[in-house]
Amino acid sequence: MIKNLRGLCAHCGGAFEFRADAVGTTAPCPHCGQPTELTLPAPVCEPGLGKRTLFYLAAAVLILVLGCVAVLLLLKRAEGLSKQRTFAPLGVPGQSSPVHPGR
Ligand SMILES: [Zn+2]
Repeated sequence: MIKNLRGLCAHCGGAFEFRADAVGTTAPCPHCGQPTELTLPAPVCEPGLGKRTLFYLAAAVLILVLGCVAVLLLLKRAEGLSKQRTFAPLGVPGQSSPVHPGR
């Protein structure tokens, strides 16, 4: 008993059925009439989709890591600036205020 397999035409993309023992041969497409190779479409499509998904996943992780590093750098910089501000403008306590009320 020979199973029927489903394939896609390389020219018009139309689906058609063919006998399993005809895999690898060429036959005219029932939709467009062009000679098309009788192959299984599944193994051809899957690796491309997986690679593309991996690429987008890697790009997303890279963006996430870069964002985290940028936030950490900004936090460290802000911390340094706030330390400089607390030390620099305040002189000796008691003489710090330049505005004297009552004059
Ligand atoms: Zn076709």
